[in-house]
Amino acid sequence: MNDAQIAAAHTPAPIAEIAARAGIDEDLLIPYGRHMAKVDVHAIDAPRTGRVVLVTGISPTPAGEGKTTVTVGLVDGLNLVAEEEDAPASIAGRTAMAALREPSLGPVFGIKGGATGGGWSQVVPMEAVNLHFTGGFHALTSAHNLLCALVDNHIQQGNELGIDPRTITLKRALDMNDRTLRDVVTGLGGRTQGVPREGGFEITVATETMAVFCLARDLADLKRRLGQITVGSTYAGEPVTASQIGPHGAQGAMAVLLKDAIAPNLVQTLGGTPVLVHGGPFANIAHGANSVIATRTAQRLADVVVTEAGFGADLGGQKFMDITSVAGQFPPAAIVVVATVRALKLQSGMALADVKAGVAKVAERDGRDEQEVQDAHVAALRSGVANLARHVENMQAYGAPVVVAVNRFAEDTDAELEWLEGWCREQDLACAVADVWGSGGEGSRGLARAVARALPAPGDDAPVLTGLWTEGMTVEERIQAVVKRNYRGAKAEFTAAARRQLAEISRRGLDGLPVCMAKTQYSFSDDPTALNAPEGFTVTVREVSAKTGAGFVVALTGAVMTMPGLPKSPAADRMDVDDAGNITGLF
Ligand code: ADP
Ligand code: MG
Repeated sequence: MNDAQIAAAHTPAPIAEIAARAGIDEDLLIPYGRHMAKVDVHAIDAPRTGRVVLVTGISPTPAGEGKTTVTVGLVDGLNLVAEEEDAPASIAGRTAMAALREPSLGPVFGIKGGATGGGWSQVVPMEAVNLHFTGGFHALTSAHNLLCALVDNHIQQGNELGIDPRTITLKRALDMNDRTLRDVVTGLGGRTQGVPREGGFEITVATETMAVFCLARDLADLKRRLGQITVGSTYAGEPVTASQIGPHGAQGAMAVLLKDAIAPNLVQTLGGTPVLVHGGPFANIAHGANSVIATRTAQRLADVVVTEAGFGADLGGQKFMDITSVAGQFPPAAIVVVATVRALKLQSGMALADVKAGVAKVAERDGRDEQEVQDAHVAALRSGVANLARHVENMQAYGAPVVVAVNRFAEDTDAELEWLEGWCREQDLACAVADVWGSGGEGSRGLARAVARALPAPGDDAPVLTGLWTEGMTVEERIQAVVKRNYRGAKAEFTAAARRQLAEISRRGLDGLPVCMAKTQYSFSDDPTALNAPEGFTVTVREVSAKTGAGFVVALTGAVMTMPGLPKSPAADRMDVDDAGNITGLF
């Protein structure tokens, strides 16, 4: 069965039942149909004691290595193990919940697919969550475009602030992969059609409005941050923020559109575990984690909160540790690094086709002795494991216990899995092979136990973590710290334009802001073809821009784009809906 068939064959519990399981009063539930609801979080005043477990991963293959799938399986596994007689003290009789990002339509109809897990570790209703869900992304797109419209209207109506149209950094948004909109000219057609200027579109999940939404603590904080978004600068070179547009700023009207969206969405796993799915910034250009509101709410509802950060530990992981968990004040009590046999083989330089096929199929296809192919694959694993080692070291450097989750694929051989487990044992690393895809929570009991052993008992102190940066560092020093200590490159280099932008950021007194690196997910470096654990490389920063609403500075490297394109054969080509409304081809 594929993901869609597994999800379709499952009958989810009514959402009120899931809410009751999470200890949410029915009065606080705003149902969206039978299996989804928004949660009015204001009245939830239980102490915020849930221990946060971050799920991150090694450098991924284009298909993704299963962080969401592992997150879902793990949280179901934790709830199963918590009921066992000999459950580790840290979770015995306790509850676990997950907090995840909402899927973007770009990847759903483009290349990567959905973001609700897979196999027997899925969030349901998967179709609804992957498509329009509770309308949050549409609301975000509208709020963001409202700001764009207000800025252009300000210029049209006399430009009291003296905004230089050539400096407007704000782009319009669309939750779709559409490369033709990357660069456009707006305002053509004469005096009454606006002031012509070069503009463009970003995918909604790459906008600052999305980042603001996901870092805000509440509606008041959301409004404050929206007002602080820099839209461009005046002819005199002074920055202009959203709070200056109109008599009271644009933030009030933007927040009007986000008033309902800001309440987190409650859904469930196939195992019946409550999950909050809310917000979804990209992890290459933005910070890559679900809303701070959802994670903080889950901490009040459950004893363990499992959450995922996008792409590898060099991207989403680092940003979670140095940006998201700092903004939300939820330092993780444990970190799970997801590894797969196939991605580690890919890191060694093995061809993607061989990696995907696995030992048995490669032997059959090439008419080779299976043992010989097996040996070659284990040798590839031995080389590619350097990628895992570095991601693990980087996460350990923060001071939280790290557990390696080997996400088992059907093609993985026992020899490969045993070799990887043995390697972890040699490194003294907690590790568990999890069959989350094939058997859901049942398949991750071992992983759940390993995570539980790493967690402090409830009430016990979690280790104090150390971030990459110290107070007083400049933005340039922060970028150098990520490149040298996390990526292990020789240094970051800056283009002339980026140098000017750094100077401007210092002049504006913004050196204290954290840095959000925009980098390819395929390599520690800014070159997607430099696999495994490269060293001595230089990372070129081509643009540095202050996202004053989100409260971080984005450093763009390589060819990272804020509006993806569709591939030659997009997922949309395989989708359809029949006359009765049944969708086919959605994964
Ligand atoms: P990530 O969150 O790391 O991007 P996902 O959990 O979304 O990855 O998984 C990516 C894709 O791989 C999904 O389509 C999922 O169904 C599939 N997948 C994940 N783990 C497995 C597995 N063990 N076996 C088969 N398919 C898997
Ligand atoms: Mg994911």
